[in-house]
Amino acid sequence: MTAAPHTVVEDYLDGLLTRYGDDDSGAVADYIPQLAAADPTRFAIALSAVDGAVHSTGDDQCTFTIQSVSKPFVYALALHYLGREAVAETVDVEPSGDPFNELSLEAETGRPLNPMINAGALAVHGLLAPDDGAHLGGFARVHEGLSAFAGRPLGVDEAVYESELATAFRNRSLTNMLRSYDIVTGDPDQVLRGYTRQCAIEVTARDLAMMAATLANGGVQPLTGEQVISRPIVREVLSVMATCGMYDGAGDWLARVGIPAKSGVCGAIMGVLPGQAGLVTFSPRLDRHGNSVRGVQVFERISDEMGLHLMEVAPPARGAVRHEHVPETLGSRAAEVFWLQGSIHFAGAENLLRSVAELGPGEGKVVLDLTHAYSLNPVSQLFITQAARSAEEIGRDVEVIDPDGLLGGQDTAEDWTEPDWIEPDWVDPDWSESEGTDQVADPV
Ligand code: GLU
Repeated sequence: MTAAPHTVVEDYLDGLLTRYGDDDSGAVADYIPQLAAADPTRFAIALSAVDGAVHSTGDDQCTFTIQSVSKPFVYALALHYLGREAVAETVDVEPSGDPFNELSLEAETGRPLNPMINAGALAVHGLLAPDDGAHLGGFARVHEGLSAFAGRPLGVDEAVYESELATAFRNRSLTNMLRSYDIVTGDPDQVLRGYTRQCAIEVTARDLAMMAATLANGGVQPLTGEQVISRPIVREVLSVMATCGMYDGAGDWLARVGIPAKSGVCGAIMGVLPGQAGLVTFSPRLDRHGNSVRGVQVFERISDEMGLHLMEVAPPARGAVRHEHVPETLGSRAAEVFWLQGSIHFAGAENLLRSVAELGPGEGKVVLDLTHAYSLNPVSQLFITQAARSAEEIGRDVEVIDPDGLLGGQDTAEDWTEPDWIEPDWVDPDWSESEGTDQVADPV
């Protein structure tokens, strides 16, 4: 794991630790005896950039069991191994508004309402269990998968596992109920054991920050480079986290903090800023929703002060495209030069398309310079191609400078074929945006 050099970010995180460290409101989860013994004073904050550099403070090396923060990852693994259709037959993606351990099932199908509540997570875990009677159900896949997200082999807290299993009366009844609806099809005891063990996987705040960064990084583990899950799966998982990740406080969370997140009764909250960072807090005292008291306060403050709310209106996309008229000089013709910078999405490409369309016929050539572009999504590939075509149609000479082959390696307008509209492929992890190497130009 890369330690980030000391910057003002560390000072900022230290300041939050001091500011909220004295708040001892809330209570440690005690329905699992071993969790009731957790040190309530623990407090850690960890923030990982998408390149895997982690800033952290407080009890950042202290291990705890992952509990419900495992749920988005296991849901992602189910989508990865089984595809969206099979998973959707087992679990819905609707917020329940009920507590996490409520039996919230759809009336007609018996499907749990979402994979972030226990009923949904048990059903999803059951899906991952190979039908071979293995003692621990889908646990092997889950353990391997979560370790891949973290970039290191994770351990299991056997004491917490035994303690929760011995008192898992409610989860046992949920699993049996799911079995009666044929949502769980295998041995319900095996599913319960596997799920309970999944919750007992040990992490630190820094591990969770890396796991969050893997989601923020489009499914690619920043340090190992492994594409653990595909981008379409990341999108699905983050959407469900945004609407269902914070127990029955999810709506309030989305409005106030605006970061897709998942919390667990261990006292961790893991947030994911797509394309930017993973943010984790760990502090075991919980509020009435089951969310960490100090964690919620830290998230609210960071979101506000660092402008991380997902619904924050982005500055105009014009920053992605710069246009300059270069007048005729001795020996070279006048030109309309368009520089594309950073990651180009719909708004930047639409801006280019319109600016080129507004040029009209003329002598000067049109230059589209992608030297400082970092990545193009499919719609921007299409729009940039169309911008070049429309300039040609009005009689302009067109020059495209695309050193990283972001448009697919074709460098003359006549040769260009429209990029395929890429249908999300839920199982194949190979899909990725076309990306160049000009990391410096990528505005994060
Ligand atoms: N293992 C816990 C349970 O199933 C996880 C709950 C949580 O973290 O929300 O009750």
